Amino acid sequence: MKCANHPSMDAVGTCVDCGKGLCVDCTHAYSIPICQSCNAVRVKGEKGDLNKRIILTFVFFALGFYFMVSTAPNFNIGTIIAGIIIGYIFAGVPWGWQFLNKITPSMFLFLSFAGWVVYFLIKTILSFAIGFIVLPIKLFGMFKDAKRLKEINQTFTN
Ligand SMILES: [Zn+2]
Ligand SMILES: [Zn+2]
Repeated sequence: MKCANHPSMDAVGTCVDCGKGLCVDCTHAYSIPICQSCNAVRVKGEKGDLNKRIILTFVFFALGFYFMVSTAPNFNIGTIIAGIIIGYIFAGVPWGWQFLNKITPSMFLFLSFAGWVVYFLIKTILSFAIGFIVLPIKLFGMFKDAKRLKEINQTFTN
């Protein structure tokens, strides 16, 4: 088999996603043996996933911020600071929820409707508490992914 990019070169590896032949240089072009087009697909997928995470976090932050500001008796710098704090607490909710999904198996499926409501309420309250702790980790992960994807973009254009 020859390299898909360099027809004169013998393939020493294959793309992990499509199986196309890759020469020595192409095999080591990325951290895993993958061809350029498959890598672009993966990067695109990761970008979409990152955008979803950012939007989800921002929407919950905005909800918390709006909740605080709209219920405050007057609007001043204190209201904004409180809004940011409440926004932070709200922004953790989807991540606390996701964390709970990982550790709570589907053993609650047999619950009655009332049981579901209680389960939902407890899970929401726990999501606030857990989200408060896991949000910095999630934000750091988003920041890291954004930086990595940006670096990949630069490699492409160079
Ligand atoms: Zn490929
Ligand atoms: Zn090659």
